[in-house]
Amino acid sequence: MTDATRDDGADDDATVVPDTGDHDQIVWPGDSAHESRDLHDADDALRYAIEQPDHRRLYTATSYRPRSVTKVKGGVTVYDFRDTGLCPANGGRIDPVLFVQHIPVVRNVPGIADFITLGNVLRAQGLAVQRATDAEGGVALYTRLRDLCYHARGSNSISVGCENMHWATTESWTEKQLRAVAWVLVQARREVGIPIRPAQLVAGNGLAGCARSGYTTHEKQSDAAGYHDRTDPGAGYRSGQVRELAAFFERHGRF
Ligand SMILES: [Zn+2]
Repeated sequence: MTDATRDDGADDDATVVPDTGDHDQIVWPGDSAHESRDLHDADDALRYAIEQPDHRRLYTATSYRPRSVTKVKGGVTVYDFRDTGLCPANGGRIDPVLFVQHIPVVRNVPGIADFITLGNVLRAQGLAVQRATDAEGGVALYTRLRDLCYHARGSNSISVGCENMHWATTESWTEKQLRAVAWVLVQARREVGIPIRPAQLVAGNGLAGCARSGYTTHEKQSDAAGYHDRTDPGAGYRSGQVRELAAFFERHGRF
């Protein structure tokens, strides 16, 4: 039995608990200098970039190409952009205990142009994220999971994140994209030990700590940190379904 098949929550998202001092070992972000920015500082730039008629030329005419492309059985394709310079990390090394799911303001487009656009805009804004997915089942590896990225203010130095291509939180999700997210969670469990289960977040003043390692939406993380200003990835994102897909993949090695 894996972590993915235990511990069903009624609500499959993370829960937020107050900092009552009852928790044995809360992991708090360290250097607050890393906790003031996140991905959504780039929302206006992304919206502007994508609404330009020639944005495909401006933002995808680039020499960035993945170092490798790996097909995973069941329709997931992994594009490795690490060390290409497309979306470099923002700080030093971290030991992540949370996995935060986001959506950017980027439309899904066929191929890897959406990954290139997102990487270009985040880099220009001094932001980064470790992973991204798209509707075709694509996964972008932008950085290593122990590289600090400015993706979720208040928890950057204890978390990794994934930008799941969508223009709005109201859009539906393809099965292939949910599989891509599941693959990302399985890889994070194997590489840095983040269990595939809802996290317990601890509410702080501008910071969100972690009482139980696992996954969370950005909305819950933002609530825990006291900002209450993020609503992504939205109601179309099914944490429970992703967890089932991840458990299946861990058992069978395919989707
Ligand atoms: Zn977000």
